Amino acid sequence: MAQMYYDNDADPSIISGTRVAIIGYGSQGHAHALNLSDSGVKVRVALRPGSSSGDKAWASGLEVLSVPEAVKWADLIMFLAPDTVQKEIYENEVAPHLRPGQTLGFAHGFNIRFGEIVPPEDVAVIMIAPKGPGHLVRRTYEEGGGVPSLVAVANDPQGNGHALALSYAWGIGSTKAGVLDTTFAEETETDLFGEQVVLCGGLSELIVAGFTTLVEAGYQPESAYFECLHEMKLIVDLLYENGLAGMWFSVSETAEYGGLTRGPRIVNEATRAEMRRILAEIQDGSFARELIDEMAAGRPRFNQLRQQAKDQSVEQVGATLRTMMPFLSTKSKLTEVSGG
Ligand code: NAD
Ligand code: MG
Ligand code: MG
Ligand code: MG
Ligand code: MG
Repeated sequence: MAQMYYDNDADPSIISGTRVAIIGYGSQGHAHALNLSDSGVKVRVALRPGSSSGDKAWASGLEVLSVPEAVKWADLIMFLAPDTVQKEIYENEVAPHLRPGQTLGFAHGFNIRFGEIVPPEDVAVIMIAPKGPGHLVRRTYEEGGGVPSLVAVANDPQGNGHALALSYAWGIGSTKAGVLDTTFAEETETDLFGEQVVLCGGLSELIVAGFTTLVEAGYQPESAYFECLHEMKLIVDLLYENGLAGMWFSVSETAEYGGLTRGPRIVNEATRAEMRRILAEIQDGSFARELIDEMAAGRPRFNQLRQQAKDQSVEQVGATLRTMMPFLSTKSKLTEVSGG
């Protein structure tokens, strides 16, 4: 078993004695800033002047500075702006003001792993990567829990990087759920693989392909929506609580036999070969290059794919059906802070 860390393994006095600048106030940024502040940590939010997120941060009782001001003030500078703008922020607004002994923190290893940000030797580089959406990092903390995190240290001139990362993880609530050691390479590569193949890419394509197959065969779209999308959450809850066995136990024997015999025909050797190719593109940096180039070109393909995803009939049908289900959590509706 891997070494796990919980509340008793962290020293809260380390983060309490550290001035933390949080760059960005989106999905992760608002959660880290508010949780740390509620844990008694000195926090400043760093944003572009005039950023609309700044008003939300002020309204929540947090002090907002420009990025250069925050870097001058802070001991630890946490990058919670989008991965694709971190390099520019680092080069223009962080690096010119960095001092030996400061620490740079990340919630995802992308820019360090792919060499986009190359900090000086006398600055520590650590990671605290929550394994869950930012809105849940905040919500679980408010409920007395937390989201698990991975921690890593890429550069450790003072030798206290790991203890600082664990203490930060305590401050955002993660040591309530469990914290695990990783490396920048492992976190980056597994995170990209998980979101592309299983969690976001694989899951959405599976839902849409199932829905479309039923509708094209003449079944009611509403019925296909309930079967292929709505019920996913109920099945995932069983997986989350008791693993695959919990799901197989709860469904009918008919579903169990049908799933065990038909599942491997959907995720088959060809699918697994494609998974290995996608992993290789992550490991050799070609996915990272493609993403960086797409952003630099003004996102032409990204915008087109986003629009296509919104226009799908499963989304039209679902939007109507969900208005009839007022019990669906309003907390997870797409409002307030950007998420994703
Ligand atoms: P986001 O898109 O939700 O929010 C980004 C924030 O950065 C916004 O407040 C925006 O105003 C601000 N910002 C944008 N450009 C800026 C600039 N030039 N200067 C200062 N601020 C700027 O971002 P996110 O999804 O929370 O991702 C932040 C980091 O956390 C990324 O490294 C991501 O990989 C990682 N992460 C995210 C999640 C998640 O749940 N979204 C989960 C784990 C790790
Ligand atoms: Mg992830
Ligand atoms: Mg990710
Ligand atoms: Mg069924
Ligand atoms: Mg986002």
